[in-house]
Amino acid sequence: MKRVSLHTLGCRLNQAETAVLESRLRRDGYDVVEFGQPTDLLVVNTCSVTDEAERTCRYVIRKTLKHSPEAFVAVTGCYAQTGVRELRTIPGIDLIVGNQFKWDLPSFLPAPQALKKHPAAEVLHTRTIDREDFSVPDVGEPDSTRALLKVQDGCDVMCSFCLIPFARGRERSRLPDDVFREAAILADGGYQELVLTGVNVGRYNHGGTDLVGLIDRLEAVAGIRRIRISSIEPTTVTDALIERMASSSKLCPYLHIPLQSGDDAILRAMNRPYQVRDFTALIERALAAIPGLGLGTDLMVGFPGESDGAFRHTVELAERLPFAYFHVFTYSKRPGTAAAKFSGEVPVQAARQRAKALADLSRRKRLAFAESSIGSTVPVLFESGTVDGFRLGTTAHFLKVGVVSSDDLTNQLHPVRITGASDRWAVGHFATAGPTERKKALL
Ligand code: SF4
Repeated sequence: MKRVSLHTLGCRLNQAETAVLESRLRRDGYDVVEFGQPTDLLVVNTCSVTDEAERTCRYVIRKTLKHSPEAFVAVTGCYAQTGVRELRTIPGIDLIVGNQFKWDLPSFLPAPQALKKHPAAEVLHTRTIDREDFSVPDVGEPDSTRALLKVQDGCDVMCSFCLIPFARGRERSRLPDDVFREAAILADGGYQELVLTGVNVGRYNHGGTDLVGLIDRLEAVAGIRRIRISSIEPTTVTDALIERMASSSKLCPYLHIPLQSGDDAILRAMNRPYQVRDFTALIERALAAIPGLGLGTDLMVGFPGESDGAFRHTVELAERLPFAYFHVFTYSKRPGTAAAKFSGEVPVQAARQRAKALADLSRRKRLAFAESSIGSTVPVLFESGTVDGFRLGTTAHFLKVGVVSSDDLTNQLHPVRITGASDRWAVGHFATAGPTERKKALL
């Protein structure tokens, strides 16, 4: 049996897509081995958000060809879409597949028994990506108890730093029936939590079914206990969505809303379609409506023209708003974007210090969020395995919780009483004695 190893760079959407490719390749007769193990086929699903994409891609391929010199190498994803010229120069690549053809990658491969390295990479690519709504040809095999479910692709916003509209094309939505088909299969497979992913999920709209309409119908899928939105742009968080989140027992009280900067001039230069006061008003509305809302954000440092004062505005806002954590990104110049032509470059050292300051603040926020739950009892959905002796899981509002237990708790929901906190996770113990009582407590 031929082996395949898959490696994902970048976002959750890429992870969801790799999961689908993996299950298709498994059906085609491949034995899926972990990345780093000897293999006959390597599939790299790339990202082009930072300029590390090329370096990482080279590294991944070099590492694989070291232990498996005959491995057939197929590269797809955003860097395959935007960096095809550079990819052609990387030795060892046999197939480059642009995002338009990502789902068809398995059919472009030779039959497993005929896998053989090519003298030069074969390229399947279009410069522009069709705008049509889409379906997904398979079901992903999630590697977590939270199953990623892709519902949307592409983006029309054109933030000045972002290559994604070029890499993934314009906005389009997955056919609702196809979403429910995959959701039902995942529920049948025992998954209790769905994470809705996309580039700009809040723009989901198919034939009048918007994101709230889609969630309404997903809530009816038997076996699904939680629905989570992975990340959502501020201008797409509607009052209807807030109301749904406030009243639903399945839609998780959790919003990850990218802010990027707390300075209006920088937001304008980024072409973000909101100002600080709009963002603040949105957060206040959401917090007032949704009890115990878990709130996360993305922040970018080092954008051209970001002065000390502008950065201070970001820090002040990030401190003031009750975020549970931030993801911090350092601006990286991407050729082809509007910002690549901007002056006012921030020195690397200053950008590094800013990123570190925000990462430190995020750790303090995470600790405060965990501490605020001490004394409460919360349902936790557990992952497999242990980390530093703890079995880890998450609450609906996205607090990570660890308990010490000799039981395998994979994909089980249990009420946990929170007794302590760290900047990594909250700790607690089961609120009721045995597994049967714990199950009853959640019904
Ligand atoms: S909203 Fe902006 S940052 Fe997000 S994908 Fe679209 S263009 Fe990129």
